[in-house]
Amino acid sequence: MAETVHAPAATRIPHWIGGRRVEGDSGRSGPVYNPATGQQTGAVDFASVEEVDAAVQAAREAFPAWRRTSLAKRAELFFRIRELLHARREEVAAILTGEHGKVLSDALGEVTRGLEVVEHCCGIPTLLKGEHSEQASTGIDVYSIRQPLGVVAGITPFNFPAMVPMWMWAPAIACGNCFVLKPSEKDPSASLWVAELLREAGLPDGVFNVLMGDRVAVDALLEHPDVAAISFVGSTPIARYVYENATASGKRCQALGGAKNHMIVLPDADVNTAADAAISAGYGSAGERCMAVSVVVAVGDVAQPLVDAIKERIPKVRVGDGMDPSSEMGPLVTSEHRDKVASYVENAPGEGATVVVDGREGVPAEGFFLNPSLLDDVTPGMKAYADEIFGPVLGVTRVATYEEALRLVNESPYGNGVAIFTRDGGAARQFQFDVQAGMVGINVPIPVPVAYYSFGGWKSSLFGDLHVYGPESIGFYTQGKVVTSRWPDPATSRIDLGFPQTR
Ligand code: NAD
Repeated sequence: MAETVHAPAATRIPHWIGGRRVEGDSGRSGPVYNPATGQQTGAVDFASVEEVDAAVQAAREAFPAWRRTSLAKRAELFFRIRELLHARREEVAAILTGEHGKVLSDALGEVTRGLEVVEHCCGIPTLLKGEHSEQASTGIDVYSIRQPLGVVAGITPFNFPAMVPMWMWAPAIACGNCFVLKPSEKDPSASLWVAELLREAGLPDGVFNVLMGDRVAVDALLEHPDVAAISFVGSTPIARYVYENATASGKRCQALGGAKNHMIVLPDADVNTAADAAISAGYGSAGERCMAVSVVVAVGDVAQPLVDAIKERIPKVRVGDGMDPSSEMGPLVTSEHRDKVASYVENAPGEGATVVVDGREGVPAEGFFLNPSLLDDVTPGMKAYADEIFGPVLGVTRVATYEEALRLVNESPYGNGVAIFTRDGGAARQFQFDVQAGMVGINVPIPVPVAYYSFGGWKSSLFGDLHVYGPESIGFYTQGKVVTSRWPDPATSRIDLGFPQTR
């Protein structure tokens, strides 16, 4: 819910429209916190419908000149963006830690993975190459070209405030579109920082705009007649809502949703490797990753040694302020979210699960902290199994066979990431063949594809046809045109009312 907060003017977080900061005048704003201290550090403007229109118009005005800009100049600009981002990555990482809470090393990792997408876009002249068929018919050549859509918008979640927007704006702009970003209202400052960096790199005003806000801004973008396409990343209910409403307004849409990522451990797996991976992927970024491992499916007699190995490692995870270089896991994003995540641990015994490690114990009084929790004997039907908890709560589900483990994954309504741990190449290959998920890790717990592949899940983890970044993003942010061309000799010209024939 929008609430008006009173923060010092210096901490006001405005929009970025047409190449400059624009303070909102809707009278609505939301609080931004430092999750490590629990203190409010800023107040972010919430856009009105008129402010959404102003941002879209700025993008629309910038479009004709931007789409005419040569591929060589666009590539040159992306190299400059890459250099600036790389040189100043620690600056933006500190902003991420200050508003999201993730530890600085993790924030740097986020920026680095986002940079890979920018680096991929430096090759835009190659990525946009079409095809050409000489002499498709006698004297006729046929070729394909890809052209930008116009104004496109991105709506992004709180958990990757720099990387997920980069998944969108980098390919969208490289393809010749103008972009309107609506970042999460929980940690919006990184988007303003990026806007200023893009301007410094030489991006023309209006090509990249940032609208701060909530549902009002999202709805206005979904309905705006001058927005051609929407990219969304966030929770499944909002992803479904965005997809249904964007497509109902005639827009192209890709809407990535939530996840419940399983990590299957076969009896032959190395227990220590699997336990290290479960800790890293379950508690990294305090479990606030769409590719976090949320449930470990232990097959056969690996279960007890695996639970023991994970339990033994948990006290060694250093939880603390993300700015402290010794911290390995920071706080959660808000106190409401921390309390919701903690409720899964509180309710676990009532559901029939066993609390092996209770992360509610020993947390600092200040900030939105929760320590790592481990639940055992989690079974389908429990909320702790079904829900995307999105926090440092790892569940273990014990099954007898590989087939049972596979069935669990394939019956999940989500299909984002999945991992299998085994030393049996044949079993891993069979799993890759059978499993219904968009991104599969074989002895890799967080299989986020490199930038020259595309990222996306199956089932309720993605609404739409095309995944984000990589080759599929070039398809998403452009429309194809096929040209059939003849340069006739006027001497041979004649009238022919028949349907055009080849040969
Ligand atoms: P969210 O769905 O609450 O918010 C995402 C965006 O939608 C934000 O910009 C927010 O302002 C907007 N929004 C929120 N409520 C809205 C409403 N009622 N109407 C219109 N817009 C609304 O998600 P979040 O809590 O910011 O992020 C966490 C979620 O994102 C998790 O479910 C996570 O799995 C998912 N996620 C998915 C991926 C992926 O690639 N599939 C990546 C990162 C995060």
